[in-house]
Amino acid sequence: MQQPFDLNALSHEELLASTRKLAETERRITVTILHHLAEIERRRSYAKLGYSSLWDYTVRDLKYSESAAFRRISAMRALKAHPELEQKISDGTLSVTTVSQVQTFIKAERDQASRHYSDQDKSLLFKKCENKSSREVTRELLQISPLAVRVQKERAITENRTMISFVADTDLLSKIHRVRDLAVPRLRDPASYPELVNLMSEVTLDEIDPMRRPNRSVTSAREKNSVREKIPVKITSSISDQTIAPISPQATQSVGQSSRQSPKPSRTVSAAVRAQIWREFDGRCAFVSRVTGNRCNSTFGLEIEHCKPHALGGSSDDPTNLRLLCRHHNQWQAIESYGLNKIEKHLQPKGHKQQKH
Ligand SMILES: [Zn+2]
Repeated sequence: MQQPFDLNALSHEELLASTRKLAETERRITVTILHHLAEIERRRSYAKLGYSSLWDYTVRDLKYSESAAFRRISAMRALKAHPELEQKISDGTLSVTTVSQVQTFIKAERDQASRHYSDQDKSLLFKKCENKSSREVTRELLQISPLAVRVQKERAITENRTMISFVADTDLLSKIHRVRDLAVPRLRDPASYPELVNLMSEVTLDEIDPMRRPNRSVTSAREKNSVREKIPVKITSSISDQTIAPISPQATQSVGQSSRQSPKPSRTVSAAVRAQIWREFDGRCAFVSRVTGNRCNSTFGLEIEHCKPHALGGSSDDPTNLRLLCRHHNQWQAIESYGLNKIEKHLQPKGHKQQKH
């Protein structure tokens, strides 16, 4: 490793003082990186480069490990909601790991136990974890809610074997048992969870995978609730009556009835055309970055996108006007078409979500 100067020549005191200074600099840089990540997420800049999510960008472009990327994104979200954390991360009172642990815990409490923390409660929780090691923080959080700490995990055991664990509440467990009891004739070993989950997956995919069931309606709950649909408006001067027009085919269903526009059924993409598009793009996001030439290829949260928006005369029946995009690239296309300022409020994740993706 190349060194700017000969460390050997330093006294113990100088060496320790220099290292302390570097650690302080490192923490300040970390905070700056968190701010950069927040801005990149706000603008969806990662999508422009063909990445399927901020997490994907952070791992593949910035070269962070998956866990380091997760911690930074999680800490970035905490910092956005609690600007007072900045000083504490900078001076080392709270590490990025601790902030991420607490942020993940609060999210798990909300998602798993419907327990919502007020801003004041959240601040108190961060305060409680100040100057603590990761292990001490885990202990602290376990005392508050044992189930909210690491509620689920995927861990690779071998190249093609993964251990999956999660906590089921009584309602979910009774559903799983009910499925198993009814599916006994179709299971070689009714006690096998992998076999049971495989059967559930097959049945579900038969129901919702457009590539398997071309003749069925395949609009999923996720698609119905997608952010793309919640970007329902576009105001263009080129539209004479200045109506607020939906910009996705699904949007018609949720917005059309209440809008002043007359219904235009042709905005809806038929199940047969959807299946054709799904197959044509191999069930993957078709976005190709003009900057890097990278195709996204994400299979997560795919939606049919009109190349030329229906509001501007684009056809929903012509497959050449349709393509498959992931949620992030749908958002990016909307930003490119209409400008971040106009649609930013529709892009804000609720409560915040992020999967890994
Ligand atoms: Zn994509």
